[in-house]
Amino acid sequence: MKLYNKTRCPAVLLQAVLLRAARSVGKVRTTGVVVKVTASRHACRGVAYEASSVCEWHLRKRRVGRRRGDDGEGRGIKTDGGYIHLSLPLHRQDALEASESFFRVAAHEWGHVRDYQHGGRRTMAFSCAGGGARRLRHDDRPEERRANRYVAEAVERIHAGRVLAPDDDILALALWLDEQQQRSVIER
Ligand SMILES: [Zn+2]
Repeated sequence: MKLYNKTRCPAVLLQAVLLRAARSVGKVRTTGVVVKVTASRHACRGVAYEASSVCEWHLRKRRVGRRRGDDGEGRGIKTDGGYIHLSLPLHRQDALEASESFFRVAAHEWGHVRDYQHGGRRTMAFSCAGGGARRLRHDDRPEERRANRYVAEAVERIHAGRVLAPDDDILALALWLDEQQQRSVIER
């Protein structure tokens, strides 16, 4: 995974949850996939694009200095099948809920990347594949149904297996989020 961490959260914490989310949806290659994580005051959101490369500009928080010949300006970063952008929800009531939502949204987006890596629009049912087809409601699109099914199956497996243990990566992320919330309450 090529992680572009634009949050203050330690990369190891994000990486552990992201990799667990990827493993949970099965046959997805993680090594070459570009994942960008930004902080948000709102609920966790995610989006996955079918792509073989991402313009580096999109991976920066903001453009810093636009010197000509700045090496890397607009450079294409290779990605394996897809590019994921996730937001890490800060300042929510329940840190564990926030951490779990990050896991679920990540798993959903990995589900899309899994499809992209296995042929994507060329071989699978995608709402916009045929062109001219009536646009389905977002949740009814075949690719969304598949991604949601991957997550449902993953969550089922997790519940069947074990409850959250103290060394659990989702819990570790929740503890960090909780710490941030405590801090922002004190600073207020
Ligand atoms: Zn989706």
